[in-house]
Amino acid sequence: MSQKFDEMVKRENSVICSTYGRYPVAVSHGRDCRLYDLDGNEYIDFLAGIAVCSLGHSREDLADVMAEQARKLVHASNLFYQAPQIELAEKLVATCGADKVFFCNSGAEANEGAIKLARRYMRKVRNEDRYEIITLARSFHGRTLSTLTATGQTGLIKDGFEPLPQGFLTVPFNDIEALQQAVTPQTAAIMMEMVQGEGGVRPLEPAYVNAVMDICRKNGVLLIVDEVQSGMCRTGKFWAHQHYGITPDIFTSAKALANGLPMGAVLATDEVAKGFAPGSHATTFGGGALVSAVASKVLDIMNEQDMAERAREMGEFVKAEALKLKERHPDKIQGVRGLGLMFGIELSVEGKPVWNGLLERRFICNLTQGRILRLVPPLTITRDDVRAFMAALDDVLSSPEA
Ligand SMILES: *Cc1c(COP(=O)(O)O)cnc(C)c1O
Repeated sequence: MSQKFDEMVKRENSVICSTYGRYPVAVSHGRDCRLYDLDGNEYIDFLAGIAVCSLGHSREDLADVMAEQARKLVHASNLFYQAPQIELAEKLVATCGADKVFFCNSGAEANEGAIKLARRYMRKVRNEDRYEIITLARSFHGRTLSTLTATGQTGLIKDGFEPLPQGFLTVPFNDIEALQQAVTPQTAAIMMEMVQGEGGVRPLEPAYVNAVMDICRKNGVLLIVDEVQSGMCRTGKFWAHQHYGITPDIFTSAKALANGLPMGAVLATDEVAKGFAPGSHATTFGGGALVSAVASKVLDIMNEQDMAERAREMGEFVKAEALKLKERHPDKIQGVRGLGLMFGIELSVEGKPVWNGLLERRFICNLTQGRILRLVPPLTITRDDVRAFMAALDDVLSSPEA
């Protein structure tokens, strides 16, 4: 490690709260699918800021929109009507079956909003005392008190934060019987990711999703889909739930929505959106002019360049290459799976040394659940970059490091 890097670690440790297990890289700048560290080393980025910079880093066209809007209006408050916010909402509802949008600033805040909307809709529109939210094991929904409670994981995420909010229940993944039994007259909504991200890149089975929809309809329960990671063309359709031919009552977006500026959104059908009334929910920064203008441009680019189709195609290529690698290393790769460019390579060996070997070869990806390499590159990633990544992984798996 360089002296510049060591110095940075020392400064950070004295002023930044210690909540992150950071990678041993101090990132300086980025361009498209490349990141650069303080010493000028170049990395090929298969992480994209955790599925955030889906159109690549530091784009000129987005920088232009940012600069132009920054000189016009950055923030006025939600006390005003603002054209960029309305325009963005129009573009968002055109991508899906939702009718109304509430803008916020992060994935957790979007999910928090979705939970609040589901509960308030039940109480104020349906006049039913339903409040319980059912989620799946290994899910991840965020770090606010209610979204960490909704999250189907134990350990550090919940430890030390009790008492946790009431009205949350977790059931086993892909187990329709368990879900059926968990639904009661108090159930307001079932909330799930179509492809679990943090949980290890696990797509739900279509038959399971159909059965969930049945349970929702029969019991008057809402379906909330957390598309914070899987949305915005990542999986090969604009929204992952579109692979399953369903229309959720509520779904959430965040990560890639403004390609790196903080933004979240709750999308709902007209009917369920009646659950919110003036004064019932709000946030200062949500849907501000600057971030809305940028997200609006993100949607234009994604539509014009059919990024969903690109993600589908490139996802197929990643899968084919990963399968070849699995054949070469049957003792080290247990399985490969994913949807579009949300891809997981499950190792049967300890993940950390493999991840580290990739980093040393200047490839950035994420390790989740200890053994699963999660690839969520910019959707602009090229076949050459994918081949280079697989060659590096081949090299790591062939070396004594793995
Ligand atoms: C990242 C993520 C969140 C939390 O988003 P934040 O912006 O970090 O609050 C919630 N749900 C899913 C599926 C995520 O991937």
